[in-house]
Amino acid sequence: MIYLDNAATTKPDQDVLDTFLKVNQTLYFNPSSPHKAGVQAEQLLVRAKQQINTLLNLNNKYDIVFTSGATESNNIALQGIAKKKKAFAPEIITSVLEHPSVLEVVRALGNQGFEIKFVDITSDGKIDLEHLKSLMSDKVGLVTCMHVNNIMGQIQPIAEIGRIVKAYPKAHFHVDAVQAIGKVPLEFEGVHSLSMSGHKFNGLKGQGILLVENVHQIEPIMQGGGQELGVRSGTINLPINISIVKAIKYAVQNQAQLHEQLTALNNELRTFIGEYKGVYINSPHDAAPHILNLAFPGVKGEVLVNAFSKDEVMLSTTSACASKKAELNEVLLGMGIAKRNIEGSIRLSFGANTTSEDIGQFKETFIKVYEEVRELLK
Ligand code: PMP
Repeated sequence: MIYLDNAATTKPDQDVLDTFLKVNQTLYFNPSSPHKAGVQAEQLLVRAKQQINTLLNLNNKYDIVFTSGATESNNIALQGIAKKKKAFAPEIITSVLEHPSVLEVVRALGNQGFEIKFVDITSDGKIDLEHLKSLMSDKVGLVTCMHVNNIMGQIQPIAEIGRIVKAYPKAHFHVDAVQAIGKVPLEFEGVHSLSMSGHKFNGLKGQGILLVENVHQIEPIMQGGGQELGVRSGTINLPINISIVKAIKYAVQNQAQLHEQLTALNNELRTFIGEYKGVYINSPHDAAPHILNLAFPGVKGEVLVNAFSKDEVMLSTTSACASKKAELNEVLLGMGIAKRNIEGSIRLSFGANTTSEDIGQFKETFIKVYEEVRELLK
């Protein structure tokens, strides 16, 4: 099987799995327990956070909260910040590019009395910085933006956005870095909080992190035992939290090399696809190298996914979260991509396990599928 759907999820690293198993077997204790075993578990948890601080070069800028994934991290940050800001800075700025775990939270906040403003997107899929500047004011309490888009791969100018937001002390800047870690260098300038999900970089499902500058800026959205600095109540999942450190370690250590490797694969495919009339590349040229979005105008994305799947090549239309929805993808519409290119779009996404043999196999299948659909291409 050729797996080219790494933006949906990745294969767990063996060391991450081994660590998860080992901590479950030997340190299954509750870090909140007062006895010696509990204290030992608590010490390990503290050490894991120190390691994350070092691996990501954070200089103790952030409080670190372990969560079950980025959906939870985004909810804790966005709802928690918004609650604190409502009385004096009730405007939220975001874009249509965001993942549903941001966009749907912001929309729900819109129904609770916040004013939501959508920043314009440039033709290459980036936040329009001039428009952002024009939307900023002392009423803005929250700006939220993804680092790397999960459908097209475009990289947002996080440091520039951070500098713009910094001029407004009431505004909090949240970054969804799910598709960025391990793929592109992470930007932290002006960033007040940031989310990630372990399973997107060879960790496990159910593993997430929220970094937040001063956790007391957040009003807890869940009440309970007050674990994880009061914002993520519930018995701490030590094996999950310890093993994500391994995934972060490999992601950070291998980032530059993986970037080079995936850029080579991506370029090879761009050249290859360029030879086939009627097939287009939706992803901008400077996108992150692990995502390549293609358009086959005149053919439905689902038909293409099925055709590739029959030949054991796994890829997706848009994103796994959006692919079951009937309507055209908002992100692609937001980027000004023609409707027929959206209907006929597929996303290839690569990861640490993608080999040049996989790409060779993909090309063979591509040629077969192209022959099947070429009459339909507009
Ligand atoms: N943000 C982005 C950009 C994503 O790609 C995803 C996963 N599709 C999420 C957030 C949510 O991550 P999870 O499903 O692991 O909670």
